Amino acid sequence: MSLVPYSAGLRLYERLPPSLKSAMGAVMSPVPRSLLLGGGFRRRLEGLMESERRLRQLRLVLEHAERNVPYYHDVFKAVGLRSQEVKDLGALRRLPVLTKDIIRKEGERMIASDQASYRPGKASTTGSTGRPLSFLLDQQTREVELAAVWRHYLGCGASGLDARIASFRGDFVSERERGALWRWDGRVGELTFNTYALGRDNIRKIIGRLNRFRPEIVRGYPHSLYVLSRGMEAAGARMEASPRFVHTSSEQLPGSMREAIESAMGCPVRDWYSQSEYVISAGECSEGRYHQNMETGAIGLLEDDWGMERLIGTSLCNRSMPFINYDIGDHVTLGGECPCGREHVTFRAIEGRVNDMIITAGGRAVSGVGVDNFYEKEVIPFLAVPPEFLMLVQEDALKFTIEVYSSAGLEDAEADRIRRSFAELLGEGSDITIKLLESMPDRKKWKNVESRLSAEAIARLIQEHNS
Ligand SMILES: [Zn+2]
Repeated sequence: MSLVPYSAGLRLYERLPPSLKSAMGAVMSPVPRSLLLGGGFRRRLEGLMESERRLRQLRLVLEHAERNVPYYHDVFKAVGLRSQEVKDLGALRRLPVLTKDIIRKEGERMIASDQASYRPGKASTTGSTGRPLSFLLDQQTREVELAAVWRHYLGCGASGLDARIASFRGDFVSERERGALWRWDGRVGELTFNTYALGRDNIRKIIGRLNRFRPEIVRGYPHSLYVLSRGMEAAGARMEASPRFVHTSSEQLPGSMREAIESAMGCPVRDWYSQSEYVISAGECSEGRYHQNMETGAIGLLEDDWGMERLIGTSLCNRSMPFINYDIGDHVTLGGECPCGREHVTFRAIEGRVNDMIITAGGRAVSGVGVDNFYEKEVIPFLAVPPEFLMLVQEDALKFTIEVYSSAGLEDAEADRIRRSFAELLGEGSDITIKLLESMPDRKKWKNVESRLSAEAIARLIQEHNS
């Protein structure tokens, strides 16, 4: 239905004689005002309501934090700000940036006195420094994040909530090559594949299984899907029916990996950005820009010592342990208005997580996230005091250095435990040296994995293993 723009209609109406005005009024009255006001008006109104809603949510988070969280209570007092007086998002600039170090130092003082009512779960990340960070996530936060992922799926063309999903992530980290090649994960309703066993014979079996399963969505870590895609090419294995899209997340997605995955899967890759703390998330649209989920978080930027813009986020959801002005540790380039027409904060690029991949003695590729997973589940629980910094460096095909900094010092037995644990991941024949650093490394970007191998050498090692 096309309508005269509201203002033009109004001018026309104003010029009518009174008798016609009444007649017009009578004719027009059954038309709902929502239609009379036009689509442009409705979008503007929705925009205004949305920003009202965001401000209300932000105020609720700030009031809650000031009242119930000891750390924030002190912070508000120190800067002379009262949460009830907050009029706009700009008020966040008066509050200090929350760093991971502050969270570690403040410990229990970061947690709300009424935390139990939010049914929080414990979560942790080793982030980009390899140093563990624990925090609480509300039940609501986890649900909202999942809903945002699904909105993204549906926007990318998923047929509905029962769309078949095949997943290539780190689920088999404890079993690795010893595990099955796939298993049905009933908790999330996904067919999950073992990304630690992507040798050529296995890839043929995996593609056979995928072809019987016919997933609408294939999701996974970029590096796992990249290795799978290269392996498919080498093995001459192909998808009989292309998925609607591939959903990548948790790592940076270099262009070369995207191309290889899109070519092997025969569909576009739509990347997703988030972090374990669920503060800021964004999904990539058909125009290749990341649209932020503005209902769940507010964004700020901070220029750092290197002149790059660091992403600062405030969670509008999490109450058991609020994240306000949180330094996420990633760098972004803002994207401006997107040609796809959706009005969100957009990013063109997310530059934080430069995770090199390492190639094990067995020729398996393991990314920074994979190493993270392994370190968190298979190494940290067995250490008396986890070091503040740990980075795995691949010097050449079989030679690795683990750089470690621990302010508490590192006993020989602990160093040996780290070395032996990593030997299991890196495989027989790997030569591992532990290098104790004297201070926290000072560098532009943090990562927990670094490869000194050239891109060609990495491709060759993957190739050798797959043939
Ligand atoms: Zn867009």
